[in-house]
Amino acid sequence: MTPPAWAFQTEHFEPPPDDELICSVCRGVFCEPVQCPCHHVFCRACITKWLQTNRNCPVCRKRATNYCIEEVVPLIRNMIMKLTLHCRNSEHGCREKFALEGCENHMKECIYEMVRCKNKPCRHECFRKDIADHELNGCLHRYVRCETCCMKISSVSPNSHDCIRDLKLLLK
Ligand SMILES: [Zn+2]
Ligand SMILES: [Zn+2]
Ligand SMILES: [Zn+2]
Ligand SMILES: [Zn+2]
Ligand SMILES: [Zn+2]
Repeated sequence: MTPPAWAFQTEHFEPPPDDELICSVCRGVFCEPVQCPCHHVFCRACITKWLQTNRNCPVCRKRATNYCIEEVVPLIRNMIMKLTLHCRNSEHGCREKFALEGCENHMKECIYEMVRCKNKPCRHECFRKDIADHELNGCLHRYVRCETCCMKISSVSPNSHDCIRDLKLLLK
């Protein structure tokens, strides 16, 4: 499971991450760490991009190419995944802290994450904690049950619904 890109920015970590876990190219915590022959470590994406136009390590300038970068020992990866950070929605009120490896799971549930209304074509966005109320009560494009056939119909144009015709369409 790969955490989202924002989670690697150092400002989210608490306590601040060790300097040895920070990529000297992007200044973030290593994302998919790999090493040059000189043992300097970088994010895979950062060093790959650097080596497209350079033939050396960005730190010590020893010779390096994309063919000689190697995986780091799993220990480094594991250390990074155990670092704790606070949610990027902390400014909106989320108090959650979690390990980097749990970031993706939290974001699926974070009640302060912005989500979009599911009723098409509505484009309303709000916190996840408020979206159910919007979709059921506030939304102009919400669906209501037809009292005759129980089909979900748009609340905007309930008169355009015809039970028999729409049921036939549904069964096609
Ligand atoms: Zn990097
Ligand atoms: Zn180096
Ligand atoms: Zn959160
Ligand atoms: Zn809506
Ligand atoms: Zn009906």
